[in-house]
Amino acid sequence: MSDQKHQQRMASRKAVMDAKIAKATEERGVLILLKGNGKGKSSSAFGTMARSVGHGKRCAVVQFSKGRLVTGEYKLFKDHALIDWHVMGHGFTWETQDKSQDIAAAQKAWALAETMLQDAQYDMLVFDEMSYMFKYGYLEVEPVVAALKARPKMQSVIITGRTMATPLQDMADTISVIQDERHAFRLGVKAQAGIEY
Ligand code: ATP
Ligand code: MG
Repeated sequence: MSDQKHQQRMASRKAVMDAKIAKATEERGVLILLKGNGKGKSSSAFGTMARSVGHGKRCAVVQFSKGRLVTGEYKLFKDHALIDWHVMGHGFTWETQDKSQDIAAAQKAWALAETMLQDAQYDMLVFDEMSYMFKYGYLEVEPVVAALKARPKMQSVIITGRTMATPLQDMADTISVIQDERHAFRLGVKAQAGIEY
């Protein structure tokens, strides 16, 4: 392609982008859903949170996970002045399959999350692995939708989990699907600190 043609193409691309940018004028928090079977949901959520903290924004994490509780990101962020980090997975029990205990733990985690959704001091909330609560019937989705709708205007929320409840998808601003194409685990590589947790 000639230099002139390249320049023309870039100029028209810039005009299209500038028009799109001029249209996006609204300033408000967003609801981001990170779903899918691939690796990268929680790490993306915490990466975005790190970005917010870099700008001096106050953030909070509620981890609904049953998995590993002490992760590298937890160790890095737990004492940060701008971050409140709550690991709420203690009550969940894959092993004993105690459903009433799981429901109690989920409701405790949600009660905390709900107070944060009413608190304008938080610029960003991360509800990590929250989607499983709906999948297993530990939480109703309707009160969560209502609380998300009523949250402070500038507050952003990121929810992660392999599958997402439809009502959350209906109201989300941004949805990314992290697709599993290959994972080292299936090649026989052991989960390692700094990569998996
Ligand atoms: P990460 O925390 O690395 O961003 P994730 O949040 O997308 O991963 P989860 O579904 O929460 O993934 O699973 C958490 C753990 O399982 C992580 O240690 C991750 O590396 C691992 N994992 C994620 N996807 C896969 C997969 N497709 N196969 C095997 N292990 C996976
Ligand atoms: Mg995760």
